[in-house]
Amino acid sequence: MKVLVTGGAGYIGSHVVELLLERGYDVVVYDNLVAGHRAAVHQDAVFVEGDLLRPEQIATVFEQHTFDGILHFASHIMVGESMQKPWKYFRDNVSAVTNLLEVATAHDVKRFILSSTANLYDQPERIPITEEEALIPGSVYGETKYIAERQLYWAEQIYELKYCCLRYFNASGAHPNGHIGEAHNPETHLIPIILQVALGQRDKLTIFGDDYDTPDGTCIRDYIHVIDLADAHILALEALMNGAGSRVYNLGNGRGYSNLEVLEVARQVTGRPIPVEIGARRPGDAAALVADNTRIKQELGWSPEFDNLQAIIETAWKWHSTHPNGFVDGTDG
Ligand code: UDP
Repeated sequence: MKVLVTGGAGYIGSHVVELLLERGYDVVVYDNLVAGHRAAVHQDAVFVEGDLLRPEQIATVFEQHTFDGILHFASHIMVGESMQKPWKYFRDNVSAVTNLLEVATAHDVKRFILSSTANLYDQPERIPITEEEALIPGSVYGETKYIAERQLYWAEQIYELKYCCLRYFNASGAHPNGHIGEAHNPETHLIPIILQVALGQRDKLTIFGDDYDTPDGTCIRDYIHVIDLADAHILALEALMNGAGSRVYNLGNGRGYSNLEVLEVARQVTGRPIPVEIGARRPGDAAALVADNTRIKQELGWSPEFDNLQAIIETAWKWHSTHPNGFVDGTDG
């Protein structure tokens, strides 16, 4: 079985690539290395440096390989940036899917896994959030994922392509092998920022608001380990290979932690004090986002290995403390 992984040099993509290789897949990574890292791509994967905004580059890959499925990760991912540069997000994220699907359907590829997002649930009526919740993207970033889901809907109607959209909650942690992990620049996510403070790379953590309608006033999120996320992608792909229909799944642990709770667990794991201050709310933040993961557990048999925050932060700390500058030395992979 051969699969194409777009964005396979990125945080989540590189972890999925390692798991695919472990499970015997042939993997072709397609990445423009704007945000990804060449050193994050395992040496057993075929690496193609290419851009999804260049259809002729995509076509070349499909002429050289026959794919049993596509896993699409390549995208801009920052909620805040998407509100400042909306056209960058609309142009790049939406066109990337359009270009990829145009080539994929021309080559008769029938299986597609999309990284989607909990940002589609900006105003949940119920917590934990099921897949039945109203789809109201909370940002331009979320809107581009919504449009990606809709493009897949039409790809199925017209080309019989089967797809699975995985709506991630908060991806976190790192491969337990310690060689790959989260390395965004700039970093905006809570756990890596906390660990950068623990490493002395930042003075303090600023928590964005403590006046939310939650028990301690700080926002609540559902942290899911990147390896459990990767596992879900492979289960979803295999379900499609075994004849399952197109599906969407929420992907989280089903347990929420407040920002102050995350900080406390990080203090325990690192043994460092980690100074903190309370700042203003960050525009666009929902008070609480927690997944109802019943559907993916029941239908795909997904069962998270890292189901508590301590274990998640331990793997993240292993990565950050041994790679304080990310992939800059270029020796891992
Ligand atoms: N957060 C924070 N300080 C930071 C970064 C994040 O208080 O420096 C908060 C953020 O407001 C949210 C939570 O941490 O309540 C998770 O944010 P993150 O950006 O990691 O993920 P998101 O939930 O936005 O996808």
